Amino acid sequence: MASSKDFEIEEFNDWFNDIIFKAELADIRYNIKGFVVFRPWSVFSMSKMFRIYEDFLNETGHQQVMMPTLIPEENFLKESEHVEGFSPEVFWVTKHGDEDFEQKYALRPTSETAFYFMFSYWVQSYKDLPLKTYQRANVFRYDSKATKPFIRGREFYWFEAHNLFETLEEAKEQVLEDMEITEAMLHQEFAIPFLFFKRPQWDKFPGAINTYAADTILPNGKMLQLPSTHLLGTKFTETFNVKFKDKDEQLKFPFGTCYGPAISRIYGGLISVHGDKNGLRLPFDLAPTQVIILPLYFSTADNEKVEKLCLDIAEDLDKLGYRVRIDDQKEKTPKERFSYSEMKGIPLRIEIGPKDILEGVVTVYRRDLNTKEKIFIADLYDDIKKISQEFTDNLREQADEFFESKIVTVYTYDDLKEVLDENKVARVPICSIEMEGKACADEIKADTKGGEVRGTRMDYEDLPNEDAICIVCGKKSNCMAYVSKSY
Ligand SMILES: [Zn+2]
Repeated sequence: MASSKDFEIEEFNDWFNDIIFKAELADIRYNIKGFVVFRPWSVFSMSKMFRIYEDFLNETGHQQVMMPTLIPEENFLKESEHVEGFSPEVFWVTKHGDEDFEQKYALRPTSETAFYFMFSYWVQSYKDLPLKTYQRANVFRYDSKATKPFIRGREFYWFEAHNLFETLEEAKEQVLEDMEITEAMLHQEFAIPFLFFKRPQWDKFPGAINTYAADTILPNGKMLQLPSTHLLGTKFTETFNVKFKDKDEQLKFPFGTCYGPAISRIYGGLISVHGDKNGLRLPFDLAPTQVIILPLYFSTADNEKVEKLCLDIAEDLDKLGYRVRIDDQKEKTPKERFSYSEMKGIPLRIEIGPKDILEGVVTVYRRDLNTKEKIFIADLYDDIKKISQEFTDNLREQADEFFESKIVTVYTYDDLKEVLDENKVARVPICSIEMEGKACADEIKADTKGGEVRGTRMDYEDLPNEDAICIVCGKKSNCMAYVSKSY
């Protein structure tokens, strides 16, 4: 069985750029830099991901709203840290026709300053809380780093959930729920492994008390940030004068959180963690075509019978609810047609030739295990059902195994450097992820050409050995942090 990661690490960048073009996932020829066109093969899967996520957000008590794309400058300027953090990235709308607007409008880079403006109208009493809302939106950020389709674009597609609570404790519980939502969606549905971190203080969202984020590991050993959650406290409720009367008629500021899964970026992570040398591999439910039927033609044989059987099987599978297609690229060799279906990440391929019909069998190739098997036609539908049920579990298992093999625990600075040189992620003791640890993190980053302290585990208290010291400053350490390069 070929490993899912049998390409060299240096090849990953080329692989990524190549698959986007060959599998027709995105087109980078649109004539604004950093703005790409997503094509049907990726949009089908991303739309499914949006729907699965939306259902889950609804189930966890969130209500969907739709906010305007434009945010007035006066909203934006209210929260100073937020302004400082986002200003360099904001696209401004300044005119209608030839006339200037009286004030500028931001194309939303994120929507706290739209939601909280409205929350001041919507929240009056403790009875209005908790308030759990979200919107599906495209957001705009002039990211000055090199853009990359799905991973880093100047317009991207996400959910942003904005929640308010009576107490800080409830807001902290929401952070844990966001972690559970991330597990249910990214890991269970999309089979993407991740670690949920509390980010260092120097790396938090502008205006937040704390930031938490899910990072996955790409085949090149770099970490990619997926959804993040921010504990905002009363920062934005105070700024926007959002107040509620509690049971004792006292006026108070509610506590806020926000959660932002970017579906376009998650899709970029998904194709990266599951892809292999032959191309894409997609979770069964997300694949635009789940089963491709491939008639094998022979000049000397009864091709009509082959075509008839292909049509019959396609019709049956369609009735059973599968997304099925017959490959009709007659001009291509079987090998080319096999490669094409594998490159597109179609989970199952049924190959049917004239000899098979005589024997009452077909050949089934499965993309999760990269194996071929002859199956009696009588057993075909039961077998496909079984494969469809275990397919995504197999992808998850392989991705988890790779993920775990990429994390190494070390206790010295030299070992840290070695781990990063080997394109892996290090788990190391450092002094702190509060501001007093920043100097040590800065030193690591400068010295290792980009090794970043990603944070500490949020799902449990991850303690080092008793006598552990910070690998940089030598102070006693009671915190294991993860260090990696960032993609
Ligand atoms: Zn230190």
